Amino acid sequence: MQLEKVLIANRGEIALRVLRACKELGIKTVAVHSTADRELMHLSLADESVCIGPANAAQSYLSIPAIIAAAEVTGATAIHPGYGFLAENADFAEQVERSGFAFVGPTADVIRLMGDKVSAKDAMKKAGVPTVPGSDGPLPEDEQEALRIAREVGYPVIIKAAGGGGGRGMRVVHKEEDLIKSAKLTRTEAGAAFGNSMVYLEKFLGNPRHVEVQVLADGQGNAIHLYDRDCSLQRRHQKVLEEAPAPLIDEKARAEVLKRCVDACIEIGYRGAGTFEFLYEDGRFYFIEMNTRVQVEHPVTEMITGVDIVKEMLSIAAGNKLSIKQEDVVVRGHALECRINAEDPATFMPSPGKVKHYHAPGGNGIRVDSHLYSGYAVPPNYDSLIGKVIAYGNSRDEAMARMRNALDEIVVDGIKTNVPLHRDLTRDPGFCQGGVNIHYLEKKLGMDKH
Ligand code: ADP
Repeated sequence: MQLEKVLIANRGEIALRVLRACKELGIKTVAVHSTADRELMHLSLADESVCIGPANAAQSYLSIPAIIAAAEVTGATAIHPGYGFLAENADFAEQVERSGFAFVGPTADVIRLMGDKVSAKDAMKKAGVPTVPGSDGPLPEDEQEALRIAREVGYPVIIKAAGGGGGRGMRVVHKEEDLIKSAKLTRTEAGAAFGNSMVYLEKFLGNPRHVEVQVLADGQGNAIHLYDRDCSLQRRHQKVLEEAPAPLIDEKARAEVLKRCVDACIEIGYRGAGTFEFLYEDGRFYFIEMNTRVQVEHPVTEMITGVDIVKEMLSIAAGNKLSIKQEDVVVRGHALECRINAEDPATFMPSPGKVKHYHAPGGNGIRVDSHLYSGYAVPPNYDSLIGKVIAYGNSRDEAMARMRNALDEIVVDGIKTNVPLHRDLTRDPGFCQGGVNIHYLEKKLGMDKH
């Protein structure tokens, strides 16, 4: 079974990534775009393209009626949401399926379950996935009860919004006298930002790494993992550079967590590609959240396993069983990914504008996922990600050397990019050694508060 015609409800590099997978499989494609995105590369490669609204994402890429109408007029049979925008919106998944289209992702119920961090954590705990010790459900409004829980968990603690995302809605509390005030503040902020004032509490881990597990499941009782990635190099909780597999992980803990993730997928009836995110400290994994979509950093996993995650997503959405068995998934070599952003490398201010000249790097083991071309104007309206340079090698050192070459070769003239930051990072002795924690980059940049 194969999908007939897929509408790609996204833009930029991920829209191009999905389009390429569809074309490879012989699936017809519909590209959608806002008025600010008429120059996107994939529009000219798609079988059809539809303008779905103005530059303002709320009226285009985030407009459920606009996207469903585009699918209807073009006769699409399925919708791939990419990442960001509506990818983790349960109402969107529901309306897509109710309107008779296949949604390339999990069912709305599973997206809803995992979208609320309190219910997600609870479900994972029940499925045997290790979680960060904490309030086991929402933090009670009762002050004495809240203080008792925090004391039991032990300071420092972190108060997090159940509906939070994108690194927002979190507050670290170091001492008891600040707990109640911080809980109130986080509730108020969460209510305003996410329309859900529920908060929960967990132990604040001092020096964890961010290690995540990629899974694939067909919703028909089969699930596999594609090993792990390390995304500890973050700035403001935003990932900057990722790699697979995660270096220097305790093998016993790894085997255990991988198995738990697969079991959890079956337990919750997971369908599609997904990622279990963990903090890893002192040889132990602690679940923090699940992403129910394809992730920006999925290519590093594709490089080390040879599995095409997007093609597998499309196959699952067509109703097929997983095409790969766990025993067929073998890790070979190492891969790194640098996220290239249109931003000032020192101030991190976005730097949209016309790309006068673009030269992509190449060579053995280099993959570039980018919608850039010479003359393309990066619009100011959206995320600043303009591409990803992925380097594969037989060893981590070989991947690193190839990445350094690629970063020396790439030319993006006319706008500022964070390429200089990546050149620096791939020569950083600590990072080159492997296994740095989530504070490493901010410390290096002189902005760490811990
Ligand atoms: P979001 O959905 O907003 O990305 P996460 O729950 O995934 O939120 O957490 C984002 C980041 O916040 C983590 O990668 C980590 O850097 C930090 N963080 C979250 N929970 C904890 C914790 N219990 N201890 C230490 N750091 C944490």
